[in-house]
Amino acid sequence: MKLADLFKNGKTVFSFEVFPPKRNNPIETIYRTLDELQELKPDFISVTYGASGSLADNSTCEIASAIKHKYGLESAAHLTCVNSTREEVREVLRRLNENGVENILALRGDLVPDVPPKEEFKHASELISFIKASPYDFGISGACYPEGHLDSKNQVEDIINLKKKVDAGAEHLMSQLFFDNRVFYDFLEKARIAGIDVPIEAGIMPVVNKKQIERMVSLCGASLPAKFTKMMSRYEDKPDAMRDAGIAYAVDQIVDLVSQGVDGIHLYTMNNPYVAKRISESVRTLF
Ligand code: FAD
Repeated sequence: MKLADLFKNGKTVFSFEVFPPKRNNPIETIYRTLDELQELKPDFISVTYGASGSLADNSTCEIASAIKHKYGLESAAHLTCVNSTREEVREVLRRLNENGVENILALRGDLVPDVPPKEEFKHASELISFIKASPYDFGISGACYPEGHLDSKNQVEDIINLKKKVDAGAEHLMSQLFFDNRVFYDFLEKARIAGIDVPIEAGIMPVVNKKQIERMVSLCGASLPAKFTKMMSRYEDKPDAMRDAGIAYAVDQIVDLVSQGVDGIHLYTMNNPYVAKRISESVRTLF
């Protein structure tokens, strides 16, 4: 099933994101995680793609295929393009199709130190057009940034570029994480005014330790409301309290977002089934 179809009956979609095991960890570790995530019955699970776009790493395809065929849940494979040639992307599309993966989150990706750029794709919209022109019938999603992408001069420019992604064929958008729901509502309003009419899922990242937040904020530049920073500084040296406060914060965000009628919640699980379970159990009846 294409992801965009999940939104057609007006139900709020609840989805998860996982990443393939890091180098040196066997692929089986993700299957132990998925065994537990499956029980939470998300509407779909998406699988991230290594930034370097190496053809040798087939794990995203393998895991997205297993989610669909072994676990019986809909899946989406992330795919980046900036570090790949057209030929390499064509090969990944062939493999995804051959393995029965129906949905792709089409991304530009970021340049990786020590990997020379291939310069055949510059933006996600070009990848989307390329997928559309392929012989396969994939459902295509794109990424969006409630606070604007770090490369953009301003949010207006970013939303104009986001519209190009949708015009190229993205049928559904998943947002970058954010910690202040007002930022998301403001973005949503601007996106709708700009004529972006596809379902937009809100990306929620439960922050359960201090290291995680330092890394995430340096990578994506999400702003931190006072309510959040006070929580962090109060509990940063108490790991259990930090975890519980982070879970409660994410639940609070989700309750508000669902009450306001957002299209869906995309939970960045960080491959942590315990956290995903506690959040899912707290919000399950809202969906
Ligand atoms: P684009 O849509 O190409 O946008 C990037 C920048 O270019 C923006 O500033 C935009 O305004 C501008 N732009 C876009 N189109 C045009 C145009 N036509 N003309 C001029 N400017 C334009 N990274 C990974 O490596 N692997 C993953 O699995 C992964 N998953 C992600 C999942 C989600 C939900 C999100 C939000 C991000 C994910 N990323 C992932 C990170 C992503 O690759 C980076 O944020 C990257 O810098 C931008 O990707 P994009 O697809 O949004 O790029």
